Amino acid sequence: MKLPTAIAFEFIDVMPSSREEGKLYISIKYRTAIHKCLCGCGMKVVTPIRPTGWRLIYDGDTVSLHPSIGNWSFACRSHYWIANNQVMPAGPMSQAGAIARRKPNTSASLVPRFRIRRLTTSPGNDRLS
Ligand SMILES: [Zn+2]
Repeated sequence: MKLPTAIAFEFIDVMPSSREEGKLYISIKYRTAIHKCLCGCGMKVVTPIRPTGWRLIYDGDTVSLHPSIGNWSFACRSHYWIANNQVMPAGPMSQAGAIARRKPNTSASLVPRFRIRRLTTSPGNDRLS
Protein backbone atom coordinates (compact mmCIF):
# COMPACT_ATOMS: atom_id res chain seq x y z
CA MET A 1 0.00 0.00 0.00
CA LYS A 2 1.45 3.29 -1.04
CA LEU A 3 -0.02 6.32 0.62
CA PRO A 4 0.56 9.96 -0.19
CA THR A 5 2.01 11.95 2.67
CA ALA A 6 -0.52 14.73 2.44
CA ILE A 7 -4.07 15.32 1.36
CA ALA A 8 -5.73 18.43 0.02
CA PHE A 9 -9.27 19.37 0.89
CA GLU A 10 -12.13 21.42 -0.39
CA PHE A 11 -15.40 22.48 1.16
CA ILE A 12 -18.22 21.90 -1.29
CA ASP A 13 -22.01 21.97 -1.28
CA VAL A 14 -22.58 19.32 -3.88
CA MET A 15 -20.34 16.33 -4.35
CA PRO A 16 -18.62 16.67 -7.71
CA SER A 17 -19.12 13.80 -10.11
CA SER A 18 -15.43 13.47 -10.76
CA ARG A 19 -13.09 13.65 -7.85
CA GLU A 20 -9.37 14.21 -7.74
CA GLU A 21 -7.07 11.76 -6.09
CA GLY A 22 -5.62 12.91 -2.82
CA LYS A 23 -8.35 15.36 -2.09
CA LEU A 24 -10.92 15.34 0.65
CA TYR A 25 -14.27 16.80 -0.36
CA ILE A 26 -16.17 18.08 2.61
CA SER A 27 -19.83 18.96 2.63
CA ILE A 28 -20.96 20.61 5.81
CA LYS A 29 -24.47 20.68 4.42
CA TYR A 30 -24.58 16.92 4.09
CA ARG A 31 -22.29 16.33 7.07
CA THR A 32 -20.15 14.07 4.96
CA ALA A 33 -16.65 13.94 3.58
CA ILE A 34 -15.67 11.92 0.53
CA HIS A 35 -12.31 11.04 -0.93
CA LYS A 36 -10.79 8.46 -3.18
CA CYS A 37 -9.05 5.74 -1.25
CA LEU A 38 -5.55 7.06 -0.71
CA CYS A 39 -3.89 3.79 -1.57
CA GLY A 40 -4.61 4.60 -5.18
CA CYS A 41 -7.24 1.94 -5.76
CA GLY A 42 -9.72 4.69 -6.54
CA MET A 43 -12.54 3.40 -4.36
CA LYS A 44 -14.86 6.03 -3.00
CA VAL A 45 -14.48 6.47 0.73
CA VAL A 46 -17.43 8.09 2.44
CA THR A 47 -16.97 9.33 5.96
CA PRO A 48 -20.16 10.64 7.52
CA ILE A 49 -19.40 13.46 9.90
CA ARG A 50 -21.56 12.58 12.85
CA PRO A 51 -21.21 11.94 16.53
CA THR A 52 -21.45 8.27 15.62
CA GLY A 53 -19.22 8.56 12.56
CA TRP A 54 -16.20 10.73 12.04
CA ARG A 55 -15.22 13.94 13.61
CA LEU A 56 -13.91 16.58 11.26
CA ILE A 57 -11.46 19.01 12.69
CA TYR A 58 -10.80 22.15 10.69
CA ASP A 59 -8.31 24.51 12.26
CA GLY A 60 -8.53 27.15 9.57
CA ASP A 61 -5.63 25.75 7.57
CA THR A 62 -5.78 22.00 7.81
CA VAL A 63 -8.28 19.24 8.33
CA SER A 64 -8.21 16.09 10.36
CA LEU A 65 -10.58 13.19 10.50
CA HIS A 66 -11.02 11.14 13.58
CA PRO A 67 -10.98 8.21 14.05
CA SER A 68 -8.78 6.56 11.45
CA ILE A 69 -10.10 5.53 8.08
CA GLY A 70 -10.20 1.80 7.70
CA ASN A 71 -11.29 0.55 4.34
CA TRP A 72 -12.07 -2.92 5.52
CA SER A 73 -14.57 -3.59 2.78
CA PHE A 74 -12.18 -2.78 -0.07
CA ALA A 75 -9.73 -5.18 -1.61
CA CYS A 76 -6.87 -2.92 -0.56
CA ARG A 77 -7.97 -2.98 3.10
CA SER A 78 -6.06 0.22 3.61
CA HIS A 79 -6.06 1.93 6.95
CA TYR A 80 -4.77 5.40 7.58
CA TRP A 81 -5.16 8.57 9.54
CA ILE A 82 -5.74 12.02 8.18
CA ALA A 83 -4.42 14.57 10.63
CA ASN A 84 -3.60 18.19 9.83
CA ASN A 85 -3.63 17.39 6.11
CA GLN A 86 -1.04 14.70 6.69
CA VAL A 87 -1.69 11.10 5.83
CA MET A 88 -0.28 8.53 8.20
CA PRO A 89 -0.49 4.82 7.67
CA ALA A 90 -2.25 3.01 10.47
CA GLY A 91 -1.67 -0.52 11.54
CA PRO A 92 -3.17 -3.61 9.97
CA MET A 93 -6.84 -4.13 10.41
CA SER A 94 -6.63 -6.76 13.07
CA GLN A 95 -5.13 -4.12 15.30
CA ALA A 96 -7.57 -1.44 14.30
CA GLY A 97 -9.54 -1.68 17.49
CA ALA A 98 -6.44 -1.45 19.59
CA ILE A 99 -5.14 1.47 17.59
CA ALA A 100 -8.43 3.27 17.76
CA ARG A 101 -8.38 2.93 21.50
CA ARG A 102 -4.73 3.78 21.92
CA LYS A 103 -4.41 6.60 19.45
CA PRO A 104 -6.97 9.14 20.66
CA ASN A 105 -4.74 10.48 23.40
CA THR A 106 -2.56 12.06 20.71
CA SER A 107 -5.45 13.83 19.07
CA ALA A 108 -7.89 14.21 21.89
CA SER A 109 -6.44 17.56 22.79
CA LEU A 110 -6.87 18.72 19.20
CA VAL A 111 -10.56 17.96 19.13
CA PRO A 112 -12.44 21.14 19.74
CA ARG A 113 -15.51 20.95 21.88
CA PHE A 114 -18.36 22.46 19.97
CA ARG A 115 -20.98 21.67 22.48
CA ILE A 116 -22.46 24.80 23.91
CA ARG A 117 -22.86 24.56 27.56
CA ARG A 118 -25.86 26.35 28.88
CA LEU A 119 -25.05 28.41 31.87
CA THR A 120 -27.42 27.81 34.63
CA THR A 121 -27.44 29.81 37.74
CA SER A 122 -28.28 27.95 40.80
CA PRO A 123 -30.38 30.16 42.97
CA GLY A 124 -28.94 28.76 46.11
CA ASN A 125 -25.40 29.91 45.53
CA ASP A 126 -25.81 33.46 44.34
CA ARG A 127 -28.33 34.65 46.75
CA LEU A 128 -27.22 37.57 48.76
CA SER A 129 -28.81 37.51 52.10
ZN1 LIG B 1 -7.54 1.47 -1.57
